[in-house]
Amino acid sequence: MLILKQLTKRYNTGDKALTDVTLNIPAGQVTALIGPSGAGKSTLIRCVNRLVEPTQGQVFLGETELTGLSQRQLRKARRRMGMIFQEYALIDRLTVMENVLSGYLGYTGFWRSYLRRYPQHVIKEAFRLLERVGLSDFIDKRADELSGGQRQRVGIARALLQSPDILLVDEPTASLDPKTSRQIMRLIKELCAERQLAAIINIHDVQLAQLYADRIIGLRAGELVFDGLPDQLDAEI
Ligand code: ADP
Ligand code: ADP
Repeated sequence: MLILKQLTKRYNTGDKALTDVTLNIPAGQVTALIGPSGAGKSTLIRCVNRLVEPTQGQVFLGETELTGLSQRQLRKARRRMGMIFQEYALIDRLTVMENVLSGYLGYTGFWRSYLRRYPQHVIKEAFRLLERVGLSDFIDKRADELSGGQRQRVGIARALLQSPDILLVDEPTASLDPKTSRQIMRLIKELCAERQLAAIINIHDVQLAQLYADRIIGLRAGELVFDGLPDQLDAEI
């Protein structure tokens, strides 16, 4: 689903953030990126959505070469990528439903009645997703009334609203307690399998990665140093 070919990123500060990374990330699986701070994990994810421009190499999403797209084409391609963030990036004064709907075409304006602004099928899908992530009873709550785990569930529903092909997930559990972290990781894993999504998760916690990822990629100083199953990790690093 997602292919990185000899991806290299040098920042203009001279930092070698990624060196010659080649990866093939299939649908239906959670791929965890692990490695110490500064290893290049965020850079790798940002080269996929092109918040960072790679210095060399190519990124393909299905048949589409992301690295070759104009800014206009890129906006369209980004609709195929669901993004989930560490700090959730919710709009606090909006409700749960409004936050989820804000994932539609990336619209983030303020509106009073979403019922008039969105197509019926989009609203229906938002309801379905909120039910799936366990937030049916919180639809009209303001985002700032939620717990961290609930906020991340909203973030997940929002990321899925446009039926993306891949999920790019940046430290999804960094602000959560251990139990909630496991629940969130399990939810992401289940959704990937159900919807045949390819997920890349940048995750600090190696134990969580081992519990919930289908595959682990280890980065160190920008280089790929491990690529294997979670239970192979101890033996090789
Ligand atoms: P990680 O996510 O694994 O902590 P990063 O991708 O953030 O790693 O960083 C990889 C390397 O690139 C580090 O040496 C970091 O200092 C450097 N780096 C990251 N972002 C920038 C940037 N915007 N400008 C210059 N150097 C950067
Ligand atoms: P992370 O938590 O993903 O490791 P950081 O806290 O290292 O991210 O970086 C925060 C922001 O600063 C990011 O936008 C990153 O790209 C940028 N950054 C990181 N390292 C550098 C650097 N050496 N020079 C310039 N910007 C950097």
